[in-house]
Amino acid sequence: MTDWPKSLALASSRFTLDCAHRVVNDRDPLLPSDLKAARSEDQLLREEEGILFEYNVRTELVAIHNVVDLGLIVDYQERSEATLRAIKRGDVIIVGAALPSADGRSGAPDILVRGPAKNGGANSYFPVDIKNHKPLEGSSKATKQIVSSLKEFSKHQASEIEIGPGKPDSDDSLILSHYWRLLESLGYMPEGEPFGAIIGSDKKLVWRSLVEPLRDYDTQFAVRLAALMALIDQKPPHTRPIWNSSWCEKCHWQDHCKEKLLAEQHVSLIKGVSYTRAVALDSVKPAPIRTWADLANTSAADLKIKGWPKPQLEIDHARARLSGTNIPFTPRESGDFSVPRADVEIDFDMESIGKSEANGRLDCVYLWGTLTSIRSKEVRQVLGNPKEGFHGFSIFEKNETESEALASFWAWAQDWIAKSKEHNFSLKFYCFSGTAELTAMKDVSKRSIGKGGVPSIEEIDGFKKSEFWLDIRDHVKKFIWSTENQQLKTVGKIAGAKWEEGANGQLSIVWFDTWTRSTDVAERESLKNRLLEYNTNDVEATLILRNWINDSLESVPPRIVSIESLDGHVF
Ligand code: SF4
Repeated sequence: MTDWPKSLALASSRFTLDCAHRVVNDRDPLLPSDLKAARSEDQLLREEEGILFEYNVRTELVAIHNVVDLGLIVDYQERSEATLRAIKRGDVIIVGAALPSADGRSGAPDILVRGPAKNGGANSYFPVDIKNHKPLEGSSKATKQIVSSLKEFSKHQASEIEIGPGKPDSDDSLILSHYWRLLESLGYMPEGEPFGAIIGSDKKLVWRSLVEPLRDYDTQFAVRLAALMALIDQKPPHTRPIWNSSWCEKCHWQDHCKEKLLAEQHVSLIKGVSYTRAVALDSVKPAPIRTWADLANTSAADLKIKGWPKPQLEIDHARARLSGTNIPFTPRESGDFSVPRADVEIDFDMESIGKSEANGRLDCVYLWGTLTSIRSKEVRQVLGNPKEGFHGFSIFEKNETESEALASFWAWAQDWIAKSKEHNFSLKFYCFSGTAELTAMKDVSKRSIGKGGVPSIEEIDGFKKSEFWLDIRDHVKKFIWSTENQQLKTVGKIAGAKWEEGANGQLSIVWFDTWTRSTDVAERESLKNRLLEYNTNDVEATLILRNWINDSLESVPPRIVSIESLDGHVF
């Protein structure tokens, strides 16, 4: 390995996880740090929850094993010295460890678990980290994992059991690989096959071999180090921004990079052009495809990229982006693209929050917001002018629990369905990305065994499959939009929907979390009203959006036209 330059900040445990461009930006002395975006309130909340979770697990381990938590030592130097003393003593578990830096790496694994003694008799340690998430990622078929408990924590006490679908989280494995290499540089890594463990939200140690992850880690480490050497030697940069939502939306350089990418109209900002596709487009022969215009002027027949057999849709997205209008286009195939209507239309949307072990908060679907519109005078008369407009079934008002909130929403919805059958009028419940509503209903149903009025999984599936359920997103995604994404906030604003400035789903989680913990009556009332208003804006948005889509298709001449109208145009 190239020696780590003294002038560079050391590689932390996230070094190979973070985007290589971020790693370079973070160490570029010419980039003013005020270009970094401040952490959002929900990022801060998640970080606080993570810190609290780690602290709680360490505290449990301290109580079970009668050891000290070195993580409570504030001074890093003192903490790493205490860790080295514990290693020399051969403590079976070291909680809150911190290691001295070596070979350009720094790091503080949450736990060190003693491994087999080395050939010369020296002590060795496996790295273990605490993460406030599930230890497995993805949905691949459940396989046996090597699992030990907080009480019987060591690797040789572990047994092979199934803990659910998925594989050990790859980012976690890279972090463990970092600690492994650091232990190796310091001479404390066990001999034999490299292993590490993660204590996830289920508070078990899930062990994984680090053979494969170390290969990946070393490659990614070398890429980043080479890019940093180019920065120091003032050579042409090795990295450049390429938009990758899963990285960039959590990165403090997001505003800086987005501004650059928008200025150059970079192809990674086109819907459907993933990071991998953007990288592939950069190597297209005879000339790279880097900008929206490059892509818009390409013929799908000429664009041959492995794993991307039909690039016409993305080419059309680039054309829409450069069309000069924010009105979407209908796709190349013909059909009826309007959103079906009904005599009684109910837009609905739920709000929920995930559990936080650290905060003692449970999973909760706390609000089912509905917006009722009766479009037929006759139906209104027959039913005796029922209430229209917004109504929320929530734990804020009559219902005390998520089960009661769902049961009251369900009873109300079933009543509408019964009336539509009795009086023979059409009825639809509109949602946007209804998978979220469907999953939320099922989750509450599973958590509400024995609670009256809560629908069963079969009843929920029956509702989803019925003529009454309509997911507007299924219609929205048929159009070619000129926008980077097709989220409700994005396309809803084009149609005229409005939300409170800055309000978004992540912020609503912070509001609700504060509502659950606040003892200030005025603050709770204000947060409740904000959440209800946010939900009202969402259901109003779905109504505005579907009205706008249908009006735009039906206007004379139609405002929404086929994407084929741009064929032959040079961008
Ligand atoms: S915003 Fe994206 S491209 Fe830019 S440094 Fe961050 S992760 Fe990398």
